[in-house]
Amino acid sequence: MTQILSLNDESINRAADILKNSGIVAMPTETVYGLAADARSDAAVTKVFKAKGRPKHNPLIVHVNELDDVLKIAKMSKKEQSIAQSFWPGPLTMILKCRKDSGLSELVSAGLSTVAVRIPSNKGARKLIKACDFPLAAPSANKSGSLSSTTPAHVESCLGSKIDLILAAGACRVGLESTVIDCSGPVPVILRAGAITAEEIKDVTGGNVEYDLCGDGEVKSPGQLLKHYAPSIPVRMNAIDLEEGEALLAFGSAKFMGIKGGGAASSLPDSRLRNLSKDGDVYEAAANLFAMMRDLDKPSNKGIAVMAVPDQGIGVAINDRLTRASQ
Ligand code: AMP
Ligand code: MG
Repeated sequence: MTQILSLNDESINRAADILKNSGIVAMPTETVYGLAADARSDAAVTKVFKAKGRPKHNPLIVHVNELDDVLKIAKMSKKEQSIAQSFWPGPLTMILKCRKDSGLSELVSAGLSTVAVRIPSNKGARKLIKACDFPLAAPSANKSGSLSSTTPAHVESCLGSKIDLILAAGACRVGLESTVIDCSGPVPVILRAGAITAEEIKDVTGGNVEYDLCGDGEVKSPGQLLKHYAPSIPVRMNAIDLEEGEALLAFGSAKFMGIKGGGAASSLPDSRLRNLSKDGDVYEAAANLFAMMRDLDKPSNKGIAVMAVPDQGIGVAINDRLTRASQ
């Protein structure tokens, strides 16, 4: 069993000691829990890939504390710097040209000439990076391809015996993984949707921002093509009624949802019903998504039927995760 410690100065120092000795630690971030390792160490990074069962060709995000730390590992154009200044610290990952003298383990970037970098806003994550004083490679703390973890209990249930320590700091504020953006071409391209939307980035750059969430043309981000974020039972999107035996993941009012064969979905037992946001708030829905999918992911449920979520704001990211979960 792994140790779970509430986040405080003492547990941060303990986590930093583990990381300095090439161990791996789950840490809170504002997006989802991350599985952190010293990004300079082949041994530590290998442990992350092994614990997650992540294919070696899928690179990791490197987390640092300040823009100066970013510039030590990557090159940034003026456009990239202005985007960074607007959204960091926060849930945005930038794909940047890696410096030859970055000192990073080559495993982090899976042999690519670029590196994915983020300055998180979560105070616990920032304190841990500071206590280490080296960059932390941290993918989401879950088994590769399955639901991300937004609470310490989720991390324990999927990776418990495989990691050295879980730093516990409650539920993650955003609840979905960071937006991933590639600015290396003439037009910035979002490779993974997240809390920061194309519209918000357009407001900063004044120019166009495109989405390429499925690797149209050349695959730029190994995560683009995968069936991902999947529970162990089928997921059905945009449901307007329920098949018998299905659980309902509602959004807004479920008053008029019927069950085929008879009955109202709103009278389902707790084991078969969750509501992402009764008020129809996409940000509340994002924060609840992974926890509620986990709640309903039971062999006694035939599948999870999800009501339509508007494709606006963070709703784009919710629908992206649901689409991959339903493959
Ligand atoms: P995770 O670590 O689980 O949050 O996933 C990180 C995402 O960023 C995955 O979809 C990766 O494929 C993507 N990624 C990481 N590094 C790069 C890179 N250098 N170029 C393109 N995509 C990347
Ligand atoms: Mg992940």
